[in-house]
Amino acid sequence: MQAIVYHGPRDFRVDGIPDAEIREPTDAVVRIERTAICGSDLHLWHGEPLPFSDFAMGHEFLGVVEDVGADVRRFARGDRVLVSCTNGCGSCAMCHDHLYTGCLTTSSKGVLSNIFGNPLLPGGQAEGARVPFADANLLSIPPDLDDEQVLFLTDILPTGYMGADFAEVGPGDVVVVFGCGPVGTFSQLGALLRGAALVIAVDLDDGRLARAEQRGCLPLNPEREDLDERVRELTGGMGADCAVEAVGRAELVRKAVEITRVGGHVGVVGVVTGDEVSLPFMRQVIAKNLTIRAGAVNPQHYWPELLPLIRQGRLDPTQIITHRMPLSEGVRGYEIFDAHAEDVLKVVLQP
Ligand SMILES: [Zn+2]
Ligand SMILES: [Zn+2]
Repeated sequence: MQAIVYHGPRDFRVDGIPDAEIREPTDAVVRIERTAICGSDLHLWHGEPLPFSDFAMGHEFLGVVEDVGADVRRFARGDRVLVSCTNGCGSCAMCHDHLYTGCLTTSSKGVLSNIFGNPLLPGGQAEGARVPFADANLLSIPPDLDDEQVLFLTDILPTGYMGADFAEVGPGDVVVVFGCGPVGTFSQLGALLRGAALVIAVDLDDGRLARAEQRGCLPLNPEREDLDERVRELTGGMGADCAVEAVGRAELVRKAVEITRVGGHVGVVGVVTGDEVSLPFMRQVIAKNLTIRAGAVNPQHYWPELLPLIRQGRLDPTQIITHRMPLSEGVRGYEIFDAHAEDVLKVVLQP
């Protein structure tokens, strides 16, 4: 089958790889109909060369069940399903707590080794994928919804919404969201759905800021306006009630902390890859009684909240799609997405 295969940084190729197949009785094989390129795929595009290669990239995909192992109970051949980017076993103590990222079984081989798109768990920028523990990691797609309406439930929609959840956004809040990319967009929409009075959308890309304004946010480019001063103005000098970091930069985590008021909440859903975030802890966290919550996404946890919002037309995730192309042109998709070319926001691929 065809897949976008990792050979090294900036060296992804569309190659033929062995077909996905059932290996364990709890596996399913999904024939993929839509898949997407995620900002976190770019970490591998840019990063240091990995000690291994030749695996399929991608963790945002959906399709049709082609085969199931003998112990799969909830799904059968022919079911339309979407796949959680985070693969849990569904039965350990962490999975029972909806912390699939920390699954005692599937994450035992290293931090985030249970996210699709690595040598242990080949990804879904491919014609097919093996999904371990299918009962815990697949969601049936309701027949009234099309693929693009639900594709982002695999990762970035729950990730962005989790930012609003971690920041405890509620009615009347003034919220600052750092980032107007795909994840930031869903943090903004999540904050608006939860009743925020004002969502200040921060980015350096004016095209993305214009889109944020269209969805009801106040756009702010910190290269042209003083962010701290503007937030003080808009909150009577108090600071924001909530802030969400949806970019993945240590200095923005610090900025989010600094612009949040006493007793406020900060949610961090951007993937900060380094280990160090420096904060003036006494002055900015302890003295302000601040809550900071960060984490990797567990899509399964948010599916019951988000699917009905899509079904009832309150949330249209397709608004972020700017590019659609065949999987065979996926490398060009990476190049466009990486360069922010052609006003790109999200690239969807069709195998
Ligand atoms: Zn992703
Ligand atoms: Zn588990």
